Amino acid sequence: MPLFDIPPFPTVPVNGETQAYAVRRIFCVGRNYADHAKEMGHQPDMEAPFFFCKTPSAICLAPATIPYALGTNDLHHEMELVVALGTPAFRATREEAENAVYAYACGLDMTRRDRQQDGKDKRRPWDFGKDFEQSAVIAPLTKAADFGPVGGQRINLTVNGEIRQDATLDQLLHDIPAVIAYLSTFYHLAPGDLIYTGTPAGVGPVVEGDVLRGEIEGLSPLDLTIGPKE
Ligand code: MN
Repeated sequence: MPLFDIPPFPTVPVNGETQAYAVRRIFCVGRNYADHAKEMGHQPDMEAPFFFCKTPSAICLAPATIPYALGTNDLHHEMELVVALGTPAFRATREEAENAVYAYACGLDMTRRDRQQDGKDKRRPWDFGKDFEQSAVIAPLTKAADFGPVGGQRINLTVNGEIRQDATLDQLLHDIPAVIAYLSTFYHLAPGDLIYTGTPAGVGPVVEGDVLRGEIEGLSPLDLTIGPKE
């Protein structure tokens, strides 16, 4: 018996299923759209994707209203396609990687941009910029079989009805099988692993009272409201 009661892994509903998807780990790809890499002052890197992680307790199921994050004055939205694995993947081929995908969802990789910049400037980790409470926002999952192949689907985000991010999924620098196959050479990937696959151009700050809507064609939309600071 454990010493203290701690919450179980968070779960995300799956469209058309009564049982929910339990989240064990969260991997996130950095700079996976060329235009976003450029807006952050980098040249797109085709050699290999890079990753950072969020803890499962960062999951926030949308729709939700969340407080403006602690410890930042520059909270940013990053609209992303989220991949949920349904089978193990280890040193996976592209085909095995593709078959390991259970479902997709709209996600927001909320970012303390000022704290991330501190990390970059001081050559320190990104954790305070990326891994914090309610920073991994996710809408209900749609099974891969229902979504179909990832291709030219539109991905977009509006803030208070105004378009901020607008792209298509075929603009991913490292596509889904490539991301999973590469990651599976560093980890024994398994069901419960989510991958936030990177954000298109147009990231920017949110303020108290902002109403965000993220959409990917064929998936449940994501609705998030930014509440007051705590
Ligand atoms: Mn991101």
